[in-house]
Formats: sequence, C-alpha cells, structure tokens
Amino acid sequence: MEMTWLTFINSFWTDWRGRDKGRDRLEEEEWFRTFLEKGNIKLNEPYTSELVEDLKHVRHEMSEVVRRLVNEELIRKEDMLKMNQWLAQGTYIRQIEQKENQFELITLPLDSSLAQLKAQIIASFVEALVEGQYKRIKICDNPDCRWVYYDTTKNRSKRFCDDKTCGNLMKVRRHRAQKKASDL
Ligand SMILES: [Zn+2]
Repeated sequence: MEMTWLTFINSFWTDWRGRDKGRDRLEEEEWFRTFLEKGNIKLNEPYTSELVEDLKHVRHEMSEVVRRLVNEELIRKEDMLKMNQWLAQGTYIRQIEQKENQFELITLPLDSSLAQLKAQIIASFVEALVEGQYKRIKICDNPDCRWVYYDTTKNRSKRFCDDKTCGNLMKVRRHRAQKKASDL
C-alpha cells in the first residue's frame, strides 16, 4: 500500500534510452487493473476516458509536488489545498483486528468510488511525506527517464534510478560529448 503512490506517479512510462516517446500506462486498462489489485484497492466505477483524465490530473499534481521537494522548495499553498480536497473525499471506518497475540486498529475505505481511489492514492503519498521519507524521494537524472524513486543509500548520493541502465548511459553520453569537444 505504501508504494501505491510510487507506482502511480511512474505510470507514464518513458524510454530511458530516449528512442521512444514513451507511453501512458494509465491509458491501458490491464495495467490499471493490476495497479488496483496490487494496491488492494477496490473500484466500482467503469474504466472510462473521463476517469483516466481525472487520474492524470492527480498524477500531474503529485509530480509537481515531487519536483518541488526534490528542488528543496516548499509545497505551494494551492497544491496543499488540492491534496486536502482529494483527501477529504475519502471516507473510512476503523476496526479492531486480532492477529495471533496482537491487536491492530485498521482503517478500511467505506466505498469504492473514484473519489475514494484518489483519496487513497494521495494518502499513500502523504504517508511517505509524514514518515520523513520525502528527503529520499528523487527523480532520475537522465532527462529521458525522469523515474521517481527512493534513494536508500546512506548518504542519499544516488543520482539515477538504476546505475546499470541510466547511470551507464549518461556516462557514455558524457564521454561522447567530451570526445566531440576535444575533436573540434
Ligand atoms: Zn532512470
């Protein structure tokens, strides 16, 4: 559940090699169904282009917030307001659950509407911010990739989503640019 927002924000697939213009996975119903399943989210609304557009709006907003956090800027008031509006549309009940010798207080969504889905995605994002993990949120330095990821290294020194792919590619590009400059 905690990774729901991360899968969601990365739903626009870009070609890290820069050969393909990428594709929006939100527009693929099969991907979308798997996303819901993995996040254990129920949705009782048909998959329509309006629904996709609505979710793209949420993703755009989240990307804007992430971009600001990565640049160590404050989140704008209007972005906070939007997130709060989406959060307010989620309705939940609390329940007690027993697991072996332990009790847990769990939160269950009350309905399976689109508004609920949006609230759940934003809640998963906000949880990451609240837990202080936001300083580890990064955007891949490869301009063709821009994948959002968690930097789990000790000193938060990671620059690419994957050193083997984007890291290597950028190294090759740097070498080529240097060679070109020295050949002139
Ligand atoms: Zn990357």
